[in-house]
Amino acid sequence: MSEYSFLVVEDSPTMRQLVSFSLKRIRGAKIVEATDGVDALKKLSEQPFHLIVADINMPLMDGLKLLSIVRKEPSYSHIPVIIVTTEGADADREKGLQLGANAYIPKPIQTSALLKAVRELLKIEE
Ligand SMILES: [Mg+2]
Repeated sequence: MSEYSFLVVEDSPTMRQLVSFSLKRIRGAKIVEATDGVDALKKLSEQPFHLIVADINMPLMDGLKLLSIVRKEPSYSHIPVIIVTTEGADADREKGLQLGANAYIPKPIQTSALLKAVRELLKIEE
């Protein structure tokens, strides 16, 4: 059975739990959580990941800064990134896509939309 490792980057414990819980519905999902961009870079240096789900608004290092670093770092640049955007924050969403995000999920997060984006990006059959 194939395994998928996901990095969930979100400062809100409730939202982090929601995203992780949703991703667990993917067969073979292994989830690592990070609380901000700095923590995410630390986790990225420790093991390979198949996909990153990152919130934009976070302390210390936000999701857009994290995304720009990931896209510039050759060992991470291939990893698909889904950004989580606040409803109505069109500028953040545009910036994220410009920086190389593969998809965005607006808050409030719909589990079905998140899983659809993940399955498309990783070409996972249901
Ligand atoms: Mg946040």
